[in-house]
Amino acid sequence: MCVFSASSRYFSDPAVMKADSIRLPFQTPMAARVRGFASAAKWLAVRALPSQCALCGNLSQSLLCNGCDAHYWNEPRLRCATCALPLSASTLRRERDDVRAHCAACLDTPPAFNDTFALADYRAPLDTLAVELKFRARLAAGGTFARHLHAVFEDSDLPVPDLLVPVPLSHARLVARGYNQAWAIARPLARMMNVPGDASIVTRLRHTSAQSRLDQETRRRNVANAFGVSGDVRGKHVGVVDDVMTSGATLDALARTLKLAGARRVTNFVALRTPKD
Ligand SMILES: [Zn+2]
Ligand SMILES: [Zn+2]
Repeated sequence: MCVFSASSRYFSDPAVMKADSIRLPFQTPMAARVRGFASAAKWLAVRALPSQCALCGNLSQSLLCNGCDAHYWNEPRLRCATCALPLSASTLRRERDDVRAHCAACLDTPPAFNDTFALADYRAPLDTLAVELKFRARLAAGGTFARHLHAVFEDSDLPVPDLLVPVPLSHARLVARGYNQAWAIARPLARMMNVPGDASIVTRLRHTSAQSRLDQETRRRNVANAFGVSGDVRGKHVGVVDDVMTSGATLDALARTLKLAGARRVTNFVALRTPKD
């Protein structure tokens, strides 16, 4: 701890950074030995010591114990193929020549995206994983979401996207949080799908206020023109990855921006879906 804070002070002083002759504290042989020992201890701890399942608290080597992993992801839920909203017999709609089910809203006013995959509803206990990923930097949850999204996608007959992008954070929010939770899902998912993942092709131009307390129309206005595309997506099928889909306004705005930039198709991959506004 002392070594770290001392080195931070050295780096913040440009005069010190230029002085090559000065040996910084973390470069001494003793510091290197301490660092080596610490990383070896961490390696051993991860492999030898069991940790707790994020959902039930039982001992588990991975994020979820086998019981939770098998139990919570197999929710049989019919969802709208476009927006992943849960459907019942009374809310289900089918267009002629389309075998996929849709909600009435997507048929009446189709959003800019074409399809959405969601693993489960945003509710207990799986919402814990999204909270752990977003606010407690438990990045392993991103890998778990990716593994299950990949399995759901493999069961479908949808074409593989040309690339995956995470819903971007604004620069200010990225700096404050230190990571983008959507990228923690998109990166392993892209690897599993064997497609490129790109965290810089779509940017968030402005910071939008928290969406959860706003009504649908205000949400739409809030995120309009929030995104920019800095790469070539012309003719491409873009997969957009996010942790939680609430109203769909953010994903709609992002898909609209991608389509305006020439994207051919946009498919959303979201871990959890809020059932209703
Ligand atoms: Zn468990
Ligand atoms: Zn829908």
